[in-house]
Amino acid sequence: MTDTLRISEVFLSIQGEGPSAGTPAHFVRLQGCDVGCRWCDTKYSWEFGGGREATPAAVIDEALALGAAPLLVVTGGEPLEHPGIAALLERGLAGWPRVEVETSGVAPPPLSHARLAWNVSPKLPAATGRWADTWRHTAAWLAEPNATFKIVVGDPPDPDDARRLVAEHRLPSGRVMLMPEGLTDEAVRRHALALAELCLREGFRLSPRLHVWMWGVRRGV
Ligand code: SF4
Repeated sequence: MTDTLRISEVFLSIQGEGPSAGTPAHFVRLQGCDVGCRWCDTKYSWEFGGGREATPAAVIDEALALGAAPLLVVTGGEPLEHPGIAALLERGLAGWPRVEVETSGVAPPPLSHARLAWNVSPKLPAATGRWADTWRHTAAWLAEPNATFKIVVGDPPDPDDARRLVAEHRLPSGRVMLMPEGLTDEAVRRHALALAELCLREGFRLSPRLHVWMWGVRRGV
């Protein structure tokens, strides 16, 4: 059954990152990722056999039962590694005014829609040995008008690598957000202060990490 998904968790919270930060949102976290970022804050979502199996219809019903929100965020894990992702997004678009997908970009966009936004987070070399795989489909993502490139940046050499890769892939600065790496408020703040100067110079936006600020690292937020 190709439309079956493996679900890590479904919850209602505040979108903490990216262009919709601060928006109440339903979250569907899909299970499974082999990108292997060393600073990943959801390592419990890596194992492809973990979580539970569900159909897209059941997942949507489960999310809607939690209450109302104007945004559905499909995250992971790596959502694009699920054969059922397109079916889930189509159902999501029928139930929410806006749907966002958090992806590393290891695969090209599986569908396009005016109310479907992509938060694409290609990785820097210090994050994972698979970093180049996450830049491979950049041209296809650039062709998606609703794709924002949200790059996690920590200590040097990350800032220089981010600036170099953005230039090499010709990402327009207005479509780039730099997000400070960190699993604690102190680390996020330290990296954000360093990134502010780079954003001012290059015209990038700075993404908050509201969930780390409010709740620290824990599941279901
Ligand atoms: S791509 Fe996302 S889920 Fe996968 S390891 Fe990296 S941060 Fe974690």
